Amino acid sequence: MNPSSLAKSQELLRSLRLKESAEQLPVIVKEAEESECSYLTFLTHLLEYEKKRREEKQLEKRLKWAAFPFHKTLDEFDLKEQQSLSKKHMNQLKEMIWLEQMYNIIFLGPPGVGKTHLAVGLGLEALYQGYKVMFITMGELIQTLKTEEISRKSQTKLKRIRKADLVIIDDLMFMAINQNEANLFFHLINDLYNNASIILTSNKAPKEWGELLGDPAITTALLDRILHRAEIIHLNGDSYRMKYRSTIFN
Ligand code: ADP
Ligand code: MG
Repeated sequence: MNPSSLAKSQELLRSLRLKESAEQLPVIVKEAEESECSYLTFLTHLLEYEKKRREEKQLEKRLKWAAFPFHKTLDEFDLKEQQSLSKKHMNQLKEMIWLEQMYNIIFLGPPGVGKTHLAVGLGLEALYQGYKVMFITMGELIQTLKTEEISRKSQTKLKRIRKADLVIIDDLMFMAINQNEANLFFHLINDLYNNASIILTSNKAPKEWGELLGDPAITTALLDRILHRAEIIHLNGDSYRMKYRSTIFN
């Protein structure tokens, strides 16, 4: 391996924005020399490496953007602990046909039954299948919408939400929101309607959402859009957190 021509090749690769290949070039050349492979095989190895690294980095970036609160997959969800969801339904959810058809999914139930875990698990599954996913809590979403005009960070976040294939809104209606906030929320849902799937989690049933939203007209319009194509999944049982909590005394 000639060091100066190696350095020159690396520089050329970098200037062509093939940064990953530039870094890996010494290794790939060494392997090629050792295995006495053909020129074409060498070139294929180099290009395959660049492609693989780009895909990995792209996935990392999409994972970061998705802003999941934790990384828990559907495989880590124990169906035996959550009798309300059958294996058959879980498999149907995993297939992501609902996402293709822009169905919304609503997970309802008391705290600790696995609503957020399932939402994140489905989000991860969608992300690995190539969809753009965004996770946000209702509280954070309202805050982001309210500061859209003045905050660059909020603008970036909302841009990603509006471009996503799947938006997960966690803990819907946890707190009562005022008229202006309800309006902003409605407009966002309206933008997403027909463009993306939404997963909502809430410990309140849709009929109670109205009380928290205040305005009956907005509530009707909102429910209309969210429930038009939606699967409502009621989760119940005891809190998994409480059942498996760790304690100090034993
Ligand atoms: P919720 O959003 O309904 O309040 P979470 O999804 O946050 O509940 O679940 C609370 C904790 O319990 C999480 O750490 C979650 O991973 C775990 N958990 C809940 N249900 C299950 C389950 N069926 N299998 C495995 N872990 C579960
Ligand atoms: Mg939750």
